[in-house]
Amino acid sequence: GQCVLVCPTGALGERDETDRALEMMYDPELITVVQFAPAVRVGFGEEFGLPPGTNVEGQIITALRMLGASIVLDTNWGADLVIMEEGTELLHRLKERKRPTFSSCCPAWINFVERHYPDIMPMLSSTKSPQQCVGALAKTYLPEKMGIDPARIRVISIMPCIAKKDEIVRRQLIHDGVPEVDVVLSTREFARLLQRERIDLKSLEPSTFDNPYMSEYSGAGAIFGTTGGVMEAALRTMYYVVNGRELEHIEIEQLRGFEGVRTATVELGGDIGAVKIAMCHGLKPTRQIVEEVRSGKSDLDFVEIMACPGGCVDGGGTLRSKKAYLPYALKRRETLFGIDKNRPVRQSHRNAQVQALYRDYLGAPNSEKAHHLLHTYYTDRKIEMTQTVREVWADIKMIG
Ligand code: SF4
Repeated sequence: GQCVLVCPTGALGERDETDRALEMMYDPELITVVQFAPAVRVGFGEEFGLPPGTNVEGQIITALRMLGASIVLDTNWGADLVIMEEGTELLHRLKERKRPTFSSCCPAWINFVERHYPDIMPMLSSTKSPQQCVGALAKTYLPEKMGIDPARIRVISIMPCIAKKDEIVRRQLIHDGVPEVDVVLSTREFARLLQRERIDLKSLEPSTFDNPYMSEYSGAGAIFGTTGGVMEAALRTMYYVVNGRELEHIEIEQLRGFEGVRTATVELGGDIGAVKIAMCHGLKPTRQIVEEVRSGKSDLDFVEIMACPGGCVDGGGTLRSKKAYLPYALKRRETLFGIDKNRPVRQSHRNAQVQALYRDYLGAPNSEKAHHLLHTYYTDRKIEMTQTVREVWADIKMIG
């Protein structure tokens, strides 16, 4: 796969990462922190014969504890945090009349920009993805709060996504040789690991998260896994920031279609007014929208991009639904909307654990400390499109 081209550790490609993950969890010297993405809980039951879209969040937590994970966190918490950072950034950019801003949580999309359209990099939100925000804080904030040695921590992510493997080895996300996230297992690999360890997900009693710092999530964080979810989550919080009160109808139906590109105009009120937004999934519609923006014809303010058609609910690391199984992806999506509906808190800014992070550690969204830990930058990698594998490797060796 393409990820081999940019992997400085040789850990990617076809090599199965389940052994590395298990070794970490077995090692008594290490504290393993495991996180799993919004879409994983609704796309995993199928691997064990459960109906498509079944929410197995609780069973995944149980399974991880059986395997020896020390701390189980939720990437959904990171999604809420991303909304705080990205929403604030976006409001600043709107005031400065910089537009559009593109979402930055999908690493396949980031790769696409860096390799094909580096000229639009300044339009990408600088906010890291939820996986990386959780990783960065699991090695800083979490050990400080829990009184543990950060050097003992290893972060393992379970992701519906192959590009996430690629993301964790980005140079910008490794600090003095220490990566924010150590291992990514795809949903498929995680299923293989459970099968190998003879853990039958179906028969497990569900558990709940118990980490008091980084596991609670709002309905907004939950819908990150489907196309349009990031946008809906961001609008809920931006509306609140601008108006000082909650959006009345928080399920923004006009955003919930399934067409490749959906656009809408949303009134945010206050000093912002109406914003024009677009949600785009799949690479063909993405290319179309990028070309439009580059030609100067677009008046969009904020664009959400998901490289996989459907978003992460149909990610490349998941039992893929493809055309014949489109109902699978739709079922998973439906379950995510159901989770949102039933959460006591449905806006990212009302997540009490995210509020505590700002109060006790970061100060405010986009503060200097928040910038240092939760924001990143992008680099022109167009040259990779013409380099041979050997040349890319030589470059990596020189740097690494
Ligand atoms: Fe990964 Fe696909 Fe989700 Fe992008 S849309 S983060 S490539 S699963």
